[in-house]
Amino acid sequence: MPSFQPQAHLVLGGPRSRAPASAWLVGAVAAAAPDLGHLLYVQGVAYGSAFGHRGASHSLAMAAAVGALLAFAWTACRGRAERRWWFGYFAGCMASHGLFDAMTDGGLGVAFFWPLSTARFFLSWRPNDVAPLGIRGFFTQSGWQVMQSELVWVWLPLSAVLGARRAQPISP
Ligand SMILES: [Zn+2]
Repeated sequence: MPSFQPQAHLVLGGPRSRAPASAWLVGAVAAAAPDLGHLLYVQGVAYGSAFGHRGASHSLAMAAAVGALLAFAWTACRGRAERRWWFGYFAGCMASHGLFDAMTDGGLGVAFFWPLSTARFFLSWRPNDVAPLGIRGFFTQSGWQVMQSELVWVWLPLSAVLGARRAQPISP
């Protein structure tokens, strides 16, 4: 669980005019949501099982399902069109979580293709230190190393992309 990964939605936000602050907040919650599966782990579900940590909750299918629900609710409540665009946005936010987890150097990989397969995957490029599973772990030396790792490999690149997007002139 990279601790800062909800910020990945900043890159997925699309044109600024389409993503009001409330959408970014929902996107951040969607990006963090896969780790709610950790509650099952705490309740005794085995880490490596389909519903264990980085299992079904981190899959692309779950991101698509949650993205569809959020897009439906978003467009229904806000009277907005472009449901497909919002589906892509919310599903992308949630799917980004598994992508960043697959770039860490510890734990088990991500079950991207659940329910078709429970195989776990990592990317071949894994620059991020794996974050501790509990809050207390962040207040240790290794927790500080995780923060530094994510600062370099998550925050700085995302900030650069966001800064570049903001610097682009808005076409009339
Ligand atoms: Zn995770």
